[in-house]
Amino acid sequence: MTKKIYFCPAGGAEQIGMSCYNIIIEEKGKKFNVMLDCGWQVNDPKSKIVSLLDMGNFIRDRLIPPQVILISHAHADHCAGLLRFIEEFPKVEVYASPPTVDLMSSNTLEEFIRSYRRGKKKEYLDYKEERDKEIEKLKNKKIEYIAKIKLINDEYFHPLSNVGSFRFIPSGHVLGAVACQIRLNIDEKKDIKIVYTGDISIYR
Ligand SMILES: [Zn+2]
Repeated sequence: MTKKIYFCPAGGAEQIGMSCYNIIIEEKGKKFNVMLDCGWQVNDPKSKIVSLLDMGNFIRDRLIPPQVILISHAHADHCAGLLRFIEEFPKVEVYASPPTVDLMSSNTLEEFIRSYRRGKKKEYLDYKEERDKEIEKLKNKKIEYIAKIKLINDEYFHPLSNVGSFRFIPSGHVLGAVACQIRLNIDEKKDIKIVYTGDISIYR
């Protein structure tokens, strides 16, 4: 039986930042969602909360919860929504390189939590109650959530449940940054390959 593959951006389409792409593999009505990055919109402070809430709802209601998230690098527009996504979809498996996780835990995700607080006096008043609840949850659970991220420290292929495999390829750009190569089994005879570059720098 041949599988169907759908591509659905939940962010990062017709905009810069907020990279969040879903590859959905469907077979006999069953769907598997591989999400590539889950960033926020760094240039628009208002959208940091609004869009992430909307994005989570959109993915849950219109697509399906991701089974796997692959994180390309530690910049906020590619990963700052991660804590919220682990909160929203607790069964998700997240993969990243070790330096990416180090940078996220010491820097990017701390900034994400702080930004919720900064918003208190400004434009987020409409979302105050919801935001305050989010801050407390994420603050208490940050270490627990970071520990759930699985580290990939090589360039070999790793299984992607039973739908295919993936590997990380160093992409320059920032410490730990990777491109993701994904192989999906369409049927017994055919694979397709997808490369997600994330942000890439070709000069060393
Ligand atoms: Zn970047």
